[in-house]
Amino acid sequence: MSLFSLAGKTALVTGGTRGIGQAIALGLAEHGADIILSQRSSNPTTDTRSAIEQLGRRCDIVHCDLADRAQVEALIPGLTPRQSIDILINAAGIQIRRAATEYDLDTYDTVVQTNLTAPFILARDLARHWLAHGHRGKVINVASISSFQGGVNMAGYSASKGGVLQLTKAFSNEWAAQGVNVNAIAPGYIATDMNVDTRTNPEAREYLQSITERIPAGRWGTPDDLKGAAVFLASRASDYIHGEVIVVDGGWMGR
Ligand code: NDP
Repeated sequence: MSLFSLAGKTALVTGGTRGIGQAIALGLAEHGADIILSQRSSNPTTDTRSAIEQLGRRCDIVHCDLADRAQVEALIPGLTPRQSIDILINAAGIQIRRAATEYDLDTYDTVVQTNLTAPFILARDLARHWLAHGHRGKVINVASISSFQGGVNMAGYSASKGGVLQLTKAFSNEWAAQGVNVNAIAPGYIATDMNVDTRTNPEAREYLQSITERIPAGRWGTPDDLKGAAVFLASRASDYIHGEVIVVDGGWMGR
């Protein structure tokens, strides 16, 4: 177990209010990590913090709207010394679906800022600190199967998630020798709020069925399905893994 233990480590997690980010935050806490949740609301929901504290772990909440570049740039410099980070989980993300010809630039910029630029800034600023202090660290970016596939009606999202994979490799190339691991997890179809409208739309029933039938595992994933990959990439067990992506998709990409 010690290979996967996160005792004594602190993880900064974005997107921890719900869905995949919440499950990852809880998974890390279950393996001994203290957690700092970066949440966008100045009046944050505290469900995840309560669940983490029930596990006996410490949990702070810091405020940052990832769509606001100035707030993201202030996040890492604004942490207190007690909030020393060992692990960064870039899990927050948004998907806005519309035809490419209708994809206005404000929407595109918001998607790219939230999904790609914010992870870039947070990892860059943490690595500056880690490299200056000889501190080993782990960055885990949540990519997507849309990092490989273009999708339909999701140009901004697919562009951002493709960028997340390249960023993972580019950072890794520069920081691996100093003991900083940068890797990604690419979820497949995971039942969360991000796709609840489609999953509950009666008109989308055939489309949904065609997706489920194409997944070799025969079902959509749940946020808990991401915990194992996240704990692995956050732990000592993955110390020699750099610039990689673990696809957690029930086999979708193999078809
Ligand atoms: P959810 O919609 O369930 O959760 C999104 C999370 O991101 C929430 O915590 C939300 O916070 C946070 N967030 C969104 N915008 C901002 C912002 N501007 N500032 C701060 N936080 C923000 O999504 P999922 O759990 O499904 O997605 C998590 C990650 O997994 C995303 O990066 C997504 O792209 C990726 N992914 C998801 C897949 C899926 O099938 N669900 C498939 C592949 C990848 P708040 O509660 O404040 O809104």
